[in-house]
Amino acid sequence: MVHLQKMRTNFPVIRHITEDKTEAEVRSASGKWRSTSTIRFIAHDKSLYVHVPFIMKNSVPLDIPLCALFKVLRTDSVDDMVRYIDPCGEIPELRRLLADPLASASRDAIINWLVMEGSSACREPSMEKKKNYVSHIFKSELLPHVGVEGIEYDDEMSSPSAGRWGGVTRANQRNIPTKEEIDMECHKKKVYIGFVVRRLIAIHLRRMPEDDRDDYQNKRFDAPGPLIATYFRQSFRAFLRQLPSVLTRACAGYEDIISVVRSKCSPLTNDLLDPYKKGNWGRTPGVNNGVVQSLNRMNTFTSPSAARKIMTPLKKEGKIPAPRQVHLSGEGITCCVETPEGQSCGLMLSLTLFARISIGIPTRIMMKMLDAAVGPTSPCPLLFPTLSIPTEDETVVFVNGRMMGVTNRPTMFEQTLMEMRSLHDLPYEMRIIWWRNDPYMRRYISINCDGSAALRPLMKADRIMDAAKIMNDPSVPLPDLWRLLFVNGIVEYVDKEEEVSRGIVVAMRPRQLFNKQKYSHVMLSPTNLLGSLANLIPFSDLNQSPRNMYYTSMVKQALSLPCLDLERKDLHRFVMWYPMKPLVATRYHEYLIEQSMGISCAQVAIWAVACLNGRNMEDSVIIKRQAMQRGLFMATYETNIYSDAKKKGTDEEIFCVPPEDCVGRHGMRHGKRVNYSLLDPETGIVPEGTEVHDGDVLIGKAARLPDFFDENGKQVLRWSDRSVVMEKLGTAIVHRVKFTRHGNNHTSVYVTLRQPKPPQIGDKFASYAAQKGTLGAAVDEWDLPFTASGIVPDIIMNAHAIPSRMTLGMMVEGLTSKASALDGKKRYADTFQGVDLDDPQQVLESKGFKRLGKERMFDGTTGEQMEAEIYLCPVAYMRLKHMTKFKVHSRAKGPRSIQTRQPTEGRRQNGGLRFGEMERDALVAHGAAYALQDRLLDNSDSFQVAICGNCGYICNHTHSSRFGKGVRAGKPYCSNKSCRLAKEDVKVITLPFASNVLIRELEAMHISTKIRFKQDGAK
Ligand SMILES: [Zn+2]
Repeated sequence: MVHLQKMRTNFPVIRHITEDKTEAEVRSASGKWRSTSTIRFIAHDKSLYVHVPFIMKNSVPLDIPLCALFKVLRTDSVDDMVRYIDPCGEIPELRRLLADPLASASRDAIINWLVMEGSSACREPSMEKKKNYVSHIFKSELLPHVGVEGIEYDDEMSSPSAGRWGGVTRANQRNIPTKEEIDMECHKKKVYIGFVVRRLIAIHLRRMPEDDRDDYQNKRFDAPGPLIATYFRQSFRAFLRQLPSVLTRACAGYEDIISVVRSKCSPLTNDLLDPYKKGNWGRTPGVNNGVVQSLNRMNTFTSPSAARKIMTPLKKEGKIPAPRQVHLSGEGITCCVETPEGQSCGLMLSLTLFARISIGIPTRIMMKMLDAAVGPTSPCPLLFPTLSIPTEDETVVFVNGRMMGVTNRPTMFEQTLMEMRSLHDLPYEMRIIWWRNDPYMRRYISINCDGSAALRPLMKADRIMDAAKIMNDPSVPLPDLWRLLFVNGIVEYVDKEEEVSRGIVVAMRPRQLFNKQKYSHVMLSPTNLLGSLANLIPFSDLNQSPRNMYYTSMVKQALSLPCLDLERKDLHRFVMWYPMKPLVATRYHEYLIEQSMGISCAQVAIWAVACLNGRNMEDSVIIKRQAMQRGLFMATYETNIYSDAKKKGTDEEIFCVPPEDCVGRHGMRHGKRVNYSLLDPETGIVPEGTEVHDGDVLIGKAARLPDFFDENGKQVLRWSDRSVVMEKLGTAIVHRVKFTRHGNNHTSVYVTLRQPKPPQIGDKFASYAAQKGTLGAAVDEWDLPFTASGIVPDIIMNAHAIPSRMTLGMMVEGLTSKASALDGKKRYADTFQGVDLDDPQQVLESKGFKRLGKERMFDGTTGEQMEAEIYLCPVAYMRLKHMTKFKVHSRAKGPRSIQTRQPTEGRRQNGGLRFGEMERDALVAHGAAYALQDRLLDNSDSFQVAICGNCGYICNHTHSSRFGKGVRAGKPYCSNKSCRLAKEDVKVITLPFASNVLIRELEAMHISTKIRFKQDGAK
């Protein structure tokens, strides 16, 4: 499962809707209910109003003036409202914006107005019930993250027997909130509203920039845990909703209650399995498609990358560019290189190497921890809220958007929390956000600890010497290094909001710290900007950037040894025979290879850049035949064929050689007799080591048919053939046969087939710089050029592949590898670490090679010295999974699609080769009309229909029993009632079946289509 991106909750996102209208959207989610309710605060040039969910007038949200909302929340004086929003008088416009006719009305009058105007969503007719409805909405939908105690005191509730919207039935089950509790909650909500409106006005008056929806501050990434939890909650609630009616029916019908409940439980199970079958997450189909994906197991590098994928839930066809573009605030969180090409470009991202997703701490627990840490006795106390409005010199403290209290010493308060966090007295996931320099925000300190936030580790600049001490201490074992840096508070996790609010400036490298004092933090390594696949590319900062991106999708197709569990039963598996460690690689690459027990996805080949005889033009490469014969790029393909035999009542299946007189015994397949002779007579399966071909039976299976009696009344045992026949694989060897038994009545068998896949002309290869190409020619080594020392290159790549792609990383990789091959020293190729060409060049020179890596070569065919010097180095090359053997395809006759009667598409369906619009245009341009008719009609969906010469409609037939290319059987007649002359005047014409379909579909839409003939009777 991939991570799903979403917008954060409990925090306003404020944007300009029109020139004179600004909207703050707060998606409020309480920990308990999880479903969010969205409240909107809107600033207009003349007024401030609120949209509360479900308070509608004729299905349009009712504009509730802000002062009315304050009155509902029990603040009567406008002065108090102003003090909630702006105690220091920094927004002179506020009073004007708050002015509204309703400001002078009483609270009861406002509630009555809400009942009259805003309860159109309530279907209850009586005023009393409508009032209860409004009060219920204000209780549970107005900022539920702050609390759901309500707005009405118990004695104010209009009728104690209200029933549906709260009232006695609910209240009896729960504690009735006291007056004090309700007042406190209303107070907290007003403080929060003050916080939102203050920013809203500042942004509306263009004193602050509007919020950016694509900024990572406003983003959260749901990992599989929260996704499953939310989905389960939804399914379970749907299940609970059904339960009462089911139980009532069960009781009335004297049914067994347990079995009734159980029968309702299995839909719940299926509901939970559903997203894994269909791939889209959530109960609505078509939304969030692609959250569940099959894990790529081509090689050991792909799975870690798949586990760090992030999906943006937007339609793939979406044309808005902003969400797809790299956002600056994603630095260090998402990889700026790894994303697919095409429709989901920029929507599928990958976490960087060290970024992590917060797990989250419940607000209640966080508050307890804060209470213990900075309670009333501490020097910078967090004072618990009283009903008095926070004054000018009090700073409000929010925990996950919920007011916890106020403090008089914000600077010291923030410092204390920071210190305690770095000493791990408070959890490291806690983020402290204080916009101390922002006049509109500095009155609020937010302490966030919600889950799904992306954090990245940064090293504190002032602790860099401590870090150096730990890192240079030889007695510290390598695995402990990270722990020591973290535990000692040298490295801290910050999220983007904290990063921006604290004004953190991050240096890429420690040496930048010596220059100026402007940096507060250092990256652990500049490679942290990249994800797990982009970090594999040697010297990737020297490549043209799209090349790195291409590589990240290409490496997912590279052959390797996917895992050491050879018993795995994947549908497809490629095993490279001799994977090699690249001579020069990034540190992360080395680490991954170490983790996968030395298995990589490449082989190091001697690589030359030359055109040679031109057999490597258009991105193809020449490979030395003898190198391939010695095992270069050799691979095996394995596929698993599965079948199971179940015994279920009288229906019984067994693995056996199906008897000759079996019902439905396979006869011919593709013009060949199906071959049963290879089956083992005992097990009914082909034995291991057998060579099998298409048309051979791999698994013999027969099913017992229901009892049958012959004419003498004797019971006859009959079997039906359900064997599995090998198809579309060519020749293979039975690699392994595995039986599995599930209980007594169910056996299954896996037959693993193996095919050796030596490199063939047309197979695909690529370097680590995404220089992909196909094998153009396998040349004998004696015909290839050689150096003075007798070295013959394995791969010859055309020089034209370099200028347009600008993959300098590959050239440097080659040079560095050559030096490493000569002196045996390890060299790293990490990104952004600078390139030292001098070191490899000196090694080359000292060993008698040219500094530039070029060599004099001799033509293998003539023995003459070649004019140009040729760049010759060892370079890592991957073999990709696309092979000619899987692609060869031709067709003469074959299946056609039912609807259009045109040949099917695709190799798997044995389809035709598409003759598309561009091909059509070419023939039209050449005037090759007969060729066009041949392709598009005669060899496609040619069809004959009878047309009435009188009315021009398609005729019916007297007996239409047979479909085919020709006229259907029987005599055609015109079925048009108003057409009498038809019988004599029927003409047969040829047209594509697709146009017949079109005519029929138009007719179904009541559009008549007529075919007219020329007067002289010609066609
Ligand atoms: Zn007619």
